[in-house]
Amino acid sequence: MTVLYRSLFLVVMTGIMFSNIPQQQAWAIDEEKVQIDQASFDLWLEGLRTEAAQKGVSASTLDKALTGLQPVPRVIELDRRQPEFSQTFWKYLTTRVNSTRIQRGRALLQKHADLLARVEKRFGVQPRFLVAFWGLESNFGDYTGVFPALGAIATLAHDPRRSDFFRDQLMAALGLVDGGHVAPDIKASWAGAMGQTQFIPTTYRDFALDFDGDNKRDLWGSLPDIFASSANYLARSGWQGDRTWGREVKIPKDLDLDLVGLSVKKKLADWQKLGVRRIDGRNLPTVDVEASLVLPSGYNGPAFLVYQNYRSILIWNRSTLYAIAVGHLADRLAGGPELQSPRTAETALSRNDVIFIQNKLTDLGFDTGGADGIVGSNTRKAIKDFQKSVNLPADGFPSAGFLERLRGIKAK
Ligand code: CA
Repeated sequence: MTVLYRSLFLVVMTGIMFSNIPQQQAWAIDEEKVQIDQASFDLWLEGLRTEAAQKGVSASTLDKALTGLQPVPRVIELDRRQPEFSQTFWKYLTTRVNSTRIQRGRALLQKHADLLARVEKRFGVQPRFLVAFWGLESNFGDYTGVFPALGAIATLAHDPRRSDFFRDQLMAALGLVDGGHVAPDIKASWAGAMGQTQFIPTTYRDFALDFDGDNKRDLWGSLPDIFASSANYLARSGWQGDRTWGREVKIPKDLDLDLVGLSVKKKLADWQKLGVRRIDGRNLPTVDVEASLVLPSGYNGPAFLVYQNYRSILIWNRSTLYAIAVGHLADRLAGGPELQSPRTAETALSRNDVIFIQNKLTDLGFDTGGADGIVGSNTRKAIKDFQKSVNLPADGFPSAGFLERLRGIKAK
């Protein structure tokens, strides 16, 4: 594809992506225009250039990459946006693991079977997972971002909010340009995620590989490099090529909910003794493997026993919903069934609902560590402690029913 056609294609794809992905609408974007002071940015860029030169980036690369580099105000707007509603499990999952993606993924799994088999032999990551990551990260290469990578990352490095993190990313990106792996005008996501695997620059630097032998680590145009880089990253994140990621299970009604979460690991035989079964009711596999129990939408929702590979997926992306989506998409690509748990109606809590829960719980003596509208570990613990105090199933999950219950409690 020529550069022009590729650009047009990406612009069109961006329009399609943003109009088709419902969760984009769940973000309230502060439309107030961000201003970036050009003089401040230019002065900052001079300091950065000096540091990069000291770290060994060549003068010609710095000229090509940094001369005339412009900040991108839109990136700051995107960085400041706040989710207005919480993600719900079924909405997240059915959006990402849909029949179009499954069918296309299956076809690509076949089409690239030889290459994927070579990558599996070398790195020990099963093809269905490599294709699942590819599908979720860039819709199999359709969408790799439309922002100028260096400008976007420099904007975030200049901005005080996460300047240290993005300064590291910018240094890594300059190193990739210097090594000839990445063009200075390459496009990325607004936060600098690059290529069909959407690696941030430090991940690109540390884990991307040249697998087609042209001495370039190309995560845009080379499928051998793309699959091998994903597999290398996973292999070095503890991936076990002879195991799967986890499975959907049924839990008994009286299961101690303190056993839920990644901090508890038990052998499958022990989960079996506790009454956990495969989702179709059969016994758990008799394999000597440790697993943790994950309930992504509370004790009324689906349940999963997850293995080491689930933890490796979390190194790629810390989101529980993402990790389950990767695992489930991989299963579907291999012909596995849909999730079997009943699709309970889910109500997405708004940011204000969560702030109400946080304030109410704190008033009741269950400290949430502030009221920021985001359900983090402190809030989950406070919910759990409150649930225990009133003999509710203590899953730490803020359901709509939980919200209603709190609303019914009169102020002291
Ligand atoms: Ca290559």
